[in-house]
Amino acid sequence: MAFLKPKIPLECTSFMKLKYHIKTYGCQMNYSDTERVMTVLEKMGYEPVNHYEKADLVILNTCMVKKSSESRIYGLGEPFKKLKEQNPRLKIGITGCMIHKDTGLRGESKEKVFQRMESVDFVFRIKDLMHLPDMLHKMHHMDGADEVSEMKSYFHINPKITNLTQVFIPIMSGCNNFCSYCIVPYSRGRNESRDIAEIMDEVEKMAKRGATEVNFVGQNVNTYDPTDADTGSSDSPFTQLLRKVDAVPGIRRIRFYTVHPQDMGDDVIALYGGLKSMVPHLHLPIQSGSNSCLKRMNRHYSVERFKELINKLRARIPTISISTDIITGFCGETEEEFMGSLNLIKDCKIDLVYVSKYSQRDGTLAARSMKDDVPYEVKKERFEQVTEAMKEVSEEYLKQFVGQTVEVLVEKVEKGYASGKIPEFKLCRFKADNPKLVGQYVNVKVDKAMEWCLEGEPV
Ligand code: SF4
Repeated sequence: MAFLKPKIPLECTSFMKLKYHIKTYGCQMNYSDTERVMTVLEKMGYEPVNHYEKADLVILNTCMVKKSSESRIYGLGEPFKKLKEQNPRLKIGITGCMIHKDTGLRGESKEKVFQRMESVDFVFRIKDLMHLPDMLHKMHHMDGADEVSEMKSYFHINPKITNLTQVFIPIMSGCNNFCSYCIVPYSRGRNESRDIAEIMDEVEKMAKRGATEVNFVGQNVNTYDPTDADTGSSDSPFTQLLRKVDAVPGIRRIRFYTVHPQDMGDDVIALYGGLKSMVPHLHLPIQSGSNSCLKRMNRHYSVERFKELINKLRARIPTISISTDIITGFCGETEEEFMGSLNLIKDCKIDLVYVSKYSQRDGTLAARSMKDDVPYEVKKERFEQVTEAMKEVSEEYLKQFVGQTVEVLVEKVEKGYASGKIPEFKLCRFKADNPKLVGQYVNVKVDKAMEWCLEGEPV
């Protein structure tokens, strides 16, 4: 549910054009959710602005994966207090992973948020987005968006598309896995999947408007479980969805985040090199290269299983790019366990690692039952070792493209360069200053591989 702080003064503002600003933290799922929040606000008559200071409504779409994100959000308490003195109309709302269902589970309850950040006026779980218009009506007397309030789930709210070429579409929300360090099952609740028909409708509409790259987002896309999948098929529902999207005219690239090594099926692997739009890149989060550490993390697979998946993927596409997540210094992580992670990066040639130093999240199993006992300096040192190992693999991986022609989907043009991703999710740039290149596919002959980026000439 959504919660308003008691005694919010009512203001008669229906005659004014009020301005909103949303700050998004964390993963692509949050960015995709923000696009839905924008739709609701703009249906109600709010106008977007690019900074808090110009806004009458600020919404923070939060992430709890890293302690630093949480601290940054609480750090905004004082500045917001001052802004409110200058603009009495200003209301502050929080959504995202910081907000839990008030179930009695430990964690960042609404009371705690209100207590630690006095300037916050309301909080809502993203899945209760349909109730946001009612709350805003009480605070700002804004009307409109009746159709939003009547919708049965936030998935039914069309996103405001900020990037017409590359679209992010949530296919599910929540997670049933309860990894011991993770807050998501408490903040987003259990798995909830959108029907295939509804997703296809969104994809087709986007493709007609110019989308060519579809990014599916969900906490564990391999457990996608809609009500309208073909139960007689040997393909999993996720594979059924991927096949349908591949057939949509105009769609050239499909990416998805995130898969889980425990649930990744052979039917999905078989699509690599099979479906024309499956990109040769997979993000497969391992978190630790040690089976004993994985056990404490409540991740139900082994390092051997992870390696087997990679071998199967490379048997289909030898040059596939594999990225992963690693946490350094998880509760009780020994030097030997850490070496498992470090060696895994080198042995499996993981060319991109999203590495984070473990920090305890209130409300998780690890916070309740394990000691955060690896000193910060050790976590940091291990973090740096992982980064170094990844750099070496990445540089080696990028070198293979020198002399080859790659297809770049241009994302930005600035400082004399156009840049964007190749199908393998690597950045490539070339000299250009025409902003109209954004959203275009350009073939580039690579003449240089730098640390994190390729460079070449259009051909
Ligand atoms: S799979 Fe684990 S880490 Fe990922 S969202 Fe679910 S509980 Fe969190």
